[in-house]
Amino acid sequence: MGDLKNKALAVIEGLKNIYKDPKLELEYNNPFELLVEAILAAQESDKKVNAVMKEFFKKYKGPIDIASAPLEELEKDLSSINFYRRKAKLLKSCCSALIELFGGKIPSKVEDLIKLPGVGRKTANMIVGGAFGKPAIIVDRHVMRVSQRIGFTTQKDPDRIEMELREIVPEDKWTLFSLLLLNHGKTICAAKDPRCGECPVSKECDYYNQSVLNHNKD
Ligand code: SF4
Repeated sequence: MGDLKNKALAVIEGLKNIYKDPKLELEYNNPFELLVEAILAAQESDKKVNAVMKEFFKKYKGPIDIASAPLEELEKDLSSINFYRRKAKLLKSCCSALIELFGGKIPSKVEDLIKLPGVGRKTANMIVGGAFGKPAIIVDRHVMRVSQRIGFTTQKDPDRIEMELREIVPEDKWTLFSLLLLNHGKTICAAKDPRCGECPVSKECDYYNQSVLNHNKD
């Protein structure tokens, strides 16, 4: 575990040099906007969600606007988003639950956020870390892949990976760590053909070290 903790610190330092201000790609002004966007971003690109939300938030400024909107109208306003019918329904139930359980205020704890329909631990952590600026390990598909490649985890379940990373990474660096890995996974450590030659943390990476070893054996 000590080795993994040192590895985590080295990875943070290495990635900080190339991702100076790591952020989520979704653009938002408050926790409500990020909650809505995170639900809409499932099987849709963040870029597309950002583009649609510019107009959407002029009309829907808070959970009451979404909860009270006729479903057909909400569907129409989201019609360029993948699976908009399902997502419109989900948004309405999420906002109704938000009003009923939390008086319309977005909670800042993962345990509360996951009580909302459509909100799993990934989204909850995204809101806690990204919108509230509190420590959060966000495990999306990029963080999952990079964590596995570097050798922080062998787990495949995102919730288990989150729990393992919580033990390895110092709590005050959870959000930074997640955003660095997320940015790295979207750029250099891509799913197909990672550009290991350009990677500042290749020395720490099990996937890379293993491939160098195998190459030297040939
Ligand atoms: S060395 Fe390659 S596989 Fe490892 S983190 Fe860097 S880009 Fe990803």
